Amino acid sequence: MKPRSIHHVDLDAFFASVEELLDPAISGLPIIVGGDPQGRGVVASCSYAARAFGVHSAMPVAQALRLCPQAIVRHGHHSVYAAYSRRVMAILAEYTPLLEQISIDEAFLDVTGSDRLFGAPETLAHTIQNRIQVECGLPSSLGVAGNKLVAKIASARAKPRGVLVVPSGQEAAFLAPLTIDRLWGVGDVTADRLRKEGISTIGKLAALPLRDMERLFGNGAAGMHRRALGIDDRPVVTEWHRKSVSQERTFARDVSSIEVLMHCLLQMSEEVAAQLRKDGDCARTVVLKMRYPDFTTITRRVTLAQPTNLAEVLHQEASQLLRREWKRGAQLRLIGIGATGLVRGRQLALFDDHSEQLSRLSRAVDKIRSRYGRDSIRRAALLETSESPEEQPPREGNGRPMV
Ligand SMILES: [Mg+2]
Repeated sequence: MKPRSIHHVDLDAFFASVEELLDPAISGLPIIVGGDPQGRGVVASCSYAARAFGVHSAMPVAQALRLCPQAIVRHGHHSVYAAYSRRVMAILAEYTPLLEQISIDEAFLDVTGSDRLFGAPETLAHTIQNRIQVECGLPSSLGVAGNKLVAKIASARAKPRGVLVVPSGQEAAFLAPLTIDRLWGVGDVTADRLRKEGISTIGKLAALPLRDMERLFGNGAAGMHRRALGIDDRPVVTEWHRKSVSQERTFARDVSSIEVLMHCLLQMSEEVAAQLRKDGDCARTVVLKMRYPDFTTITRRVTLAQPTNLAEVLHQEASQLLRREWKRGAQLRLIGIGATGLVRGRQLALFDDHSEQLSRLSRAVDKIRSRYGRDSIRRAALLETSESPEEQPPREGNGRPMV
């Protein structure tokens, strides 16, 4: 595969930087954007002057103010932040249609092959950084690499106001000295476990024998090994593709039976998977949505090692989320399943023949249904249920984004 050129653009201390623009008198001072210090507010963003005192985002505001009593606290101007974000994204969109915004102040750009137009990747990164500074007044950092994983880690290393390019072939060497918590897929719990085993850097992780990787990560071993080496084939997913397919059911009577919930999930997984196949998409992320009788709504998501368009996989992942997140016996008013992070293409069967068989079976079922109607062929598990909850019309969430 031809090396790609991926930029990760991340605004520096975004909310705090906008607050400086709104009130130049506080520019350069320690600024905290966050909730009420009297309550349980946390720091949403803080200026680098505040960070010098040990303040960081997600820290309770009260604690941040103990570290830095002179900090200026702002409660946030979210519509202003959104407007600045749109201006920045509009600049980025001038350089490529392959633009993936991943949060209010972060995006990936795939600018492979545009050297003749915009100069070498490093030159382009400085151009973009400059324009964001001059036209929006905002500082940013950029990481440039052959894939998203390394580009994102590079931009974090470049902060603040930096550009860091990791040349093709240097990915593993760049990651090797960094601490394991930098690596995508390594959360706090995993990081703790690895450190206890003496694996403190990404390089040490990459050097582990396969047997140890499997002991530590089970099925995820191969993926983790590749990431530790800085290998990542994920495409930049444009807005157009970042839609989702989802289904949800609102029950006429609240439901607390695991059989009924599982049955609903299976039925909806079939519908979502059929839609994905029809659109020629596969989903990287499965979302489970639950609403309790008091309307508290919970969504939980899991990212798959391989994008899928198979009902079996969607159902299995959603069921696992349900078992983990739902208190057994609790009443639910609504349950839903969504497939997001869509990418073009058919289910890959890299790992096993089973998914290839399922894939073929699913396509055969799609064909029969398109000829003889939706109910012409059904899964045995869907033929009978102990209890059939009535559904409330109209049904929500037909193919609409579920977030
Ligand atoms: Mg940022």
